[in-house]
Amino acid sequence: MKPMRFSDDELKNYILQESADFNDYLFKEADTIRQYYYGRDVYIRGLIEFTNYCKNNCFYCGIRRDNTCVERYRLMPEDIMACCEEGYGLGFRTFVLQGGEDPYYTDDVICRVVSGIKDKYPDCAVTLSIGEKSYESYLEYYRAGADRYLLRHETADGAHYSRLHPAEMSLENRKKSLFNLKEIGYQVGSGFMVGSPYQTTENLIQDIRFLQELEPDMIGIGPYISHENTPFKGKENGTLAQTLKLIAILRCMFPYALIPATTSLGTIDPRGRELGLKAGANVVMPNLSPVGVRELYSLYDNKICTGDEAAQCRVCLEKRVESVGYKIVTARGDVKRFSEGDKK
Ligand code: SAH
Repeated sequence: MKPMRFSDDELKNYILQESADFNDYLFKEADTIRQYYYGRDVYIRGLIEFTNYCKNNCFYCGIRRDNTCVERYRLMPEDIMACCEEGYGLGFRTFVLQGGEDPYYTDDVICRVVSGIKDKYPDCAVTLSIGEKSYESYLEYYRAGADRYLLRHETADGAHYSRLHPAEMSLENRKKSLFNLKEIGYQVGSGFMVGSPYQTTENLIQDIRFLQELEPDMIGIGPYISHENTPFKGKENGTLAQTLKLIAILRCMFPYALIPATTSLGTIDPRGRELGLKAGANVVMPNLSPVGVRELYSLYDNKICTGDEAAQCRVCLEKRVESVGYKIVTARGDVKRFSEGDKK
């Protein structure tokens, strides 16, 4: 199945189109494509949020450096291993280690954690999501056994990027990091927030064009949700409707991609993740972090699933996924690219 191609005008029309009939049509189209590639399977990823220390100061993010209201925590390697052990028992075959950019975790520490997990669970994939690092660091993690890397580009427009981030961060470096990860051989995930402050429809089209250039294996998008202890306090949130629309458009344009129904989508609407699956998403990422620290990994306000044990999250999601006609599978869930044509 060839990816669909849309002109800028078409994309603009689709994004702005509010008719329910049109949206239903788009969701059905996306669902057909998703089922052609991935059937009714939904892959699960155990998310381990291992540190909320961050040296960066992104204006939208609740764990930014200057937020002095947040209590900071770090999981030690043995804590992370305990999360994996519990997760493995619950059927997880991918562990995602996500955190702020925390210099405490030197390359050595990250490599030890990654190789520790791979030694103990050779049938599992390890995904890192720890921000911008040098080519050499990415290479070391890869050699230690890391399989995948998630690094959202956040916005592909330079001017917009600089309204979301302080001057010491640059879109150029973010993009460079993504291409480095690809070159090294990772399965790479990128993406952006929907409805982030100052975002325009043109910005969203630029985001899609950048993804076409990058050809990532995973695409993560979710609504922007304001956090009260950030400079963006009180700014409007992204919407469910807009996020679902973009998931469907992305599924049509990237048939093979692994697209999560994200926690932020579940936060903006109680049935957000289920609706995300119906609009073309095929991955969910339940939280495997110890319950005691979950509240502290507060990227945005009112984040869901902060009180449940890992097992409860797993059962709850299983029910949610089944309620819309899909099924959770225990598999590594690697990307499926059927042919060269899939990429073009
Ligand atoms: N430090 C890592 C992980 C960041 S947290 C990195 O830089 O990649 C993961 C994602 O959460 C971010 O990429 C961002 O897109 C999203 N996020 C952060 N703050 C958010 C907010 N207020 N609302 C919605 N999503 C947010």
